[in-house]
Amino acid sequence: SHSHKVSVFSASKPLRQRWPRMGSATSTPIATDRRNGKKEKIVVVMGATGTGKSKLSIDLATRFGGEIINSDKMQVYKGLDITTNKIPPHERRGVPHHLLGELDSEDGELTPEEFRQLGESIIPDITSRKKLPLIVGGSNSLVHALVVEKFDPESNVFDGSGLVSSELRYNCCFLWVDVSFMVLSEYLSKRVGDMLDMGMFEELAEFFDRPGESENTSPRTGLGKAIGVPEFERYFKRYPSPVADPVRKSAYEEAVRKIKDNTCQLAKQQIGKIVKLRGAGWDLRRMDATEAFIAVMTSAEGRSEIWEKQVLEPSVKIVKAFLEE
Ligand code: ATP
Repeated sequence: SHSHKVSVFSASKPLRQRWPRMGSATSTPIATDRRNGKKEKIVVVMGATGTGKSKLSIDLATRFGGEIINSDKMQVYKGLDITTNKIPPHERRGVPHHLLGELDSEDGELTPEEFRQLGESIIPDITSRKKLPLIVGGSNSLVHALVVEKFDPESNVFDGSGLVSSELRYNCCFLWVDVSFMVLSEYLSKRVGDMLDMGMFEELAEFFDRPGESENTSPRTGLGKAIGVPEFERYFKRYPSPVADPVRKSAYEEAVRKIKDNTCQLAKQQIGKIVKLRGAGWDLRRMDATEAFIAVMTSAEGRSEIWEKQVLEPSVKIVKAFLEE
């Protein structure tokens, strides 16, 4: 028989009811979290958008036998795979991913409290199979909600209405992939171009073409907040069908410029949140990937070696020592 966990919010429905189309097993009882009273070991890969967290986590997962729990609040939903930068299946190298493209945005927005509950049942599920849980994604509010000993859903630690606690309910190994903001913002602007080449525009066109979309005036929730959707909203409202129009091109360029700006803004905010967590006493191990990024952008010889030397190798060392503790 299944034990269904109920959301601690009296107002909200049990997770299973909130996310009826969710696939994975999320009903492990809390009690199994703490076998022998020992905290479970998890690796948390942090970093701003675009810094190579996914790539690093696949390398670590293949080396240490890991499974990934996605902590990007936009990538938890089905859809907009290019726009939200989900790691494509062929790059996952067989590593199991949890909470990646599993939820239906229409079922409502995933709260940090719900992420905490989902995570606390997925983690013991992974460790019961003798695998290492790796939490990977840029949403620091989700990471925070998952790992702190006591979580207060009413307060937001990043807007000042709450304090970041250093009391954690897991034995965490935090890896922070950092890239100097100047280099990262140049890379991110370039990446938007790559994403458009990969079909981001077509993906958004389809998203805006959904039934009822044109009448939809309610504030966007869930996937509707992904960078790319609000920026292209005006464009698709104005140009729902492909007709030739001289001002169309400038509206497109305007949307692309906004996406670039907002992506850099996001990166800056994410870095600020990471710095705050570190300041609160979280033992974040920082890896500087700046040189590797410069090498990639200039297509320099030996760029993958730079990444390996400066990011992968130190990370492997840290995780190895952590697991031997
Ligand atoms: P906040 O409290 O501001 O929501 P957070 O830490 O919970 O912060 P972030 O991951 O920093 O969440 O995301 C903030 C916003 O950035 C999202 O609401 C979304 O607009 C945008 N965003 C984040 N991740 C992505 C993504 N993968 N693709 C597109 N947009 C994203």
